Amino acid sequence: MGLLIADVIGCITEAFNADKFDKKINLGVGAYRDDKGKPYVLPSVRTAEEKLLHSKLNKEYAGIAGVPQFTKAAALLAYGPNSVPLKEDRIAITQSISGTGALRVGGAFLERFYPGDKKIYVPTPSWANHNAVFKDSGLQVEKYRYYNKDTIGLDFEGVLADIKAAPKGSIFLLHACAHNPTGIDPTEPQWREISNAMKEGGHFAFFDMAYQGFASGDTDKDAFAVRHFINEGHNVALAQSFAKNMGLYGERVGAFSIVCESAEEKKRVDSQLKILVRPMYSNPPVNGARIASEILNDPVLNEQWLAEVKGMADRIITMRALLKKNLEDLGSKHDWSHITSQIGMFAYTGLNPKQMEQLAKEHSVYATKDGRISVAGITTGNVKRLAESIHKVTC
Ligand code: PMP
Repeated sequence: MGLLIADVIGCITEAFNADKFDKKINLGVGAYRDDKGKPYVLPSVRTAEEKLLHSKLNKEYAGIAGVPQFTKAAALLAYGPNSVPLKEDRIAITQSISGTGALRVGGAFLERFYPGDKKIYVPTPSWANHNAVFKDSGLQVEKYRYYNKDTIGLDFEGVLADIKAAPKGSIFLLHACAHNPTGIDPTEPQWREISNAMKEGGHFAFFDMAYQGFASGDTDKDAFAVRHFINEGHNVALAQSFAKNMGLYGERVGAFSIVCESAEEKKRVDSQLKILVRPMYSNPPVNGARIASEILNDPVLNEQWLAEVKGMADRIITMRALLKKNLEDLGSKHDWSHITSQIGMFAYTGLNPKQMEQLAKEHSVYATKDGRISVAGITTGNVKRLAESIHKVTC
């Protein structure tokens, strides 16, 4: 049996901690770091926390579906102010234990109510936990092609062919933006074609949006795929996470929503979601949702947060460019354009497991064997040494 991703990351952290070299680099972590390599709490989050502290709220339970001001604002952030289903009040939503919990509730909902095959197609590769989450939800996990290792890019023909070949009415898990682990997203024209193919097949789209705003720096731009599908008439399901874009990792803030046919159907779905959630965890935690709610509902704080999200995305984009430039300056003969064309927290370098092992053993640079590096772990202080190390194992 293969190692769980948590074990793999655990092993990397262990090896990193044991390494005595003072210039060691850890690119295994899936959390944002500032340019000093330190965890980052957004100033807007600190302000929201202070406001909450002063308002001396009680600690009573939220309802089963969570903090209503939060879920309302979360839906608005994802679907946008012009969303027709939002205006028609036909989006069912429940707060969730971050993105993972949203996927888990969504998986359980589909297992119970999806009229077609209880199968879900996930991209190859995908976030390693998708498989376990959906399997535990009672769904059968199937795969569709996504990554082309020869081009270190999207296997667009493979994606379309697999969508077309799937039995009518299949469920497809789509990464809304900043695909994890590859960092490779379809372009907007490609999303349009994917939407058409999904429609032709009568398929159902379940979007995982764990990085809204974190990818491009613009929350609307990153929501393009979800909103386009809805404009095209797809009634999608959506898992949202505020771990990355608000840096609320351990607060576990997220939402699961599903676009319904009518306001009447939405009421029934909301009710069924509560029936599902109640025996799982009764009701979600309030603190993180209150923080997110402050940020999303207070116009001044919201503007500040949007700038901070852009700041994080921009730092990542800058580090990608710096890494590529450093590799080129070293005279690397390889084409590193994928480093800057990819988006989000992770970069798929195209390095093989042997080269990754060499990086760790000979250069104290730690990341997963699949060649994925967390760009968030790159800083102006370590990018040169990182490029030199990558150059040495690839030339
Ligand atoms: N989906 C994807 C694609 C992710 O990368 C992650 C986090 N790494 C998640 C969902 C869930 O994260 P969380 O439960 O922390 O919100």
